[in-house]
Amino acid sequence: MKKIVLLICLSTPLVSVAQDKPKLIVGIVVDQMRQEYLYRFEKKFGDKGFKRLMNEGFMLTNAHYNYVPTFTGPGHASIFTGSTPAIHGIIGNDWWDKASKKNVNCVEDDRQKPVGSPNGNGDVSPMRLLSTTITDELKLSSQKKSKVIGVSIKDRGAVLPAGHLADAAYWFDGATGKFISSTYYFNSLPVWVEKYNALKTADEYLNKEWTTFFPIEQYTESGPDDSPYEQTWKGIDKPVFPYDLKKLKEVNSKYDLLVHTPFGDDLLASFAEAALIGENLGKGEQTDFLTVSFSSPDMIGHRMGPNSVEIEDTYIRLDKNIENLLAKLDLEIGKNNYLVFLTADHAVVEIPQSLKDNRVPAGNFIDSKALKDELNAFLQKQFPGKILIEGVYNNQIFFNQDLFAGDPRSSGIDLLIATDLTVNYLQSKEGVAQVFAKSTIKQGSYSETGIKGMIVRGYNYKRSGDIAFELEPGWVGWGGLQGTTHGSPFTYDTNVPVLFFGKGVAKGSSARHHTITDIAPTLSLLLKIKFPSGCTGQPITEIVDGK
Ligand code: ZN
Ligand code: ZN
Repeated sequence: MKKIVLLICLSTPLVSVAQDKPKLIVGIVVDQMRQEYLYRFEKKFGDKGFKRLMNEGFMLTNAHYNYVPTFTGPGHASIFTGSTPAIHGIIGNDWWDKASKKNVNCVEDDRQKPVGSPNGNGDVSPMRLLSTTITDELKLSSQKKSKVIGVSIKDRGAVLPAGHLADAAYWFDGATGKFISSTYYFNSLPVWVEKYNALKTADEYLNKEWTTFFPIEQYTESGPDDSPYEQTWKGIDKPVFPYDLKKLKEVNSKYDLLVHTPFGDDLLASFAEAALIGENLGKGEQTDFLTVSFSSPDMIGHRMGPNSVEIEDTYIRLDKNIENLLAKLDLEIGKNNYLVFLTADHAVVEIPQSLKDNRVPAGNFIDSKALKDELNAFLQKQFPGKILIEGVYNNQIFFNQDLFAGDPRSSGIDLLIATDLTVNYLQSKEGVAQVFAKSTIKQGSYSETGIKGMIVRGYNYKRSGDIAFELEPGWVGWGGLQGTTHGSPFTYDTNVPVLFFGKGVAKGSSARHHTITDIAPTLSLLLKIKFPSGCTGQPITEIVDGK
């Protein structure tokens, strides 16, 4: 009897990402990075970090945020949704929640629990983000086969970019020195994360000394190291190099200290590389997406300001992190098989006191708590015995709506009177540029120009307050003589780098005005997928047409 031998090919055919699409996208956000740093520190950069992105990729030189407040939560949400707080709903890092009558954080979610550290900051999810992200759209377009991972020191820097459908987001736990996550993603950390945490990399950095990368006399692009405008640490008199972390950690909160140095960037970069390998990113049949948000430049910038030797050294060292990450991607994914974009969630103003001392317009407005008390005291004259204002957050006034309930006719008139009194009072205060009542903001069009347009695009009807105001250029809402911040509608806070590099991106640059909301739709065209659901930006045609 003849035997029929059936040859069955058991091996599956090799599957890989379509030739015209990148195998991996790496979206890098540098918290608080100014466009100007790319020029001021350029001579100190090597050829393979920022300059590789600038020289071999496409650079926008005139890209801006187009709403207020220019803060971290809204910034990350806007980059990845191609939208603004009016639509994606992330109106601040935190805000007054009218329904629950409490302050809520942009990624807080009390239905979730931390994973990786029982008492860590892990009650977190993207539930307050009202639009899909570009990372969500990638997931939707690939039947969830694309992997999406977000990493950052800050929770919001990891969670918002990675979106609702992410495989995971990881952030740094300041209590344990570990990278953790939340039950929104899973109930236990993957083995590669456990292994990374077991290395105790954060503790290693705490035994180091932060000295300048180059001899300190070469830092001619910055002010003097010993500056009265910088905040120092406990245990030392002056904010000067070298910073001995081994000594300082004993008297300062140790992991908090660590993330206020460039070692925070080193730590995150090493964790991002661990994610690349641990998750096999760029090795599947669909495009994967890794988001990496470097938080330490923001933390250092707030304390030391953009003119400090500390900030210059931070960027010189971050340049090496970028160089190493690109080299790792060349090796693991292959040159021209991946796409990188780099941007920032906002920029920053000079230390206001240093501007004032140099006769440059700037100022210190009272802080939110003091403003709330002052306005409530003022309104008592018209409304005796009533505390009308519940909160002042992100330059917005929130009235206690319960006090206007009751007789609908009188309550409507009372609210009008209270609003009008407050608008006029605020407008007369030194340092206040413009004040708008909710009714005026609602009438504004989304494409409106000027400060009003910035407020309209940052204003969410359900979540935002009853009155919005902006300060004059150079002014900040606190009285400290040292350190600085961001949040304004002015160019020092809005102009950030936008660099695209790699698969499908031609060399070049453009000085045309673009808004940050153009990044996500550009990625949609490059990936041939839908725009995020709330997207209001337009693809950067200089990049997509240059293919
Ligand atoms: Zn930020
Ligand atoms: Zn900041």
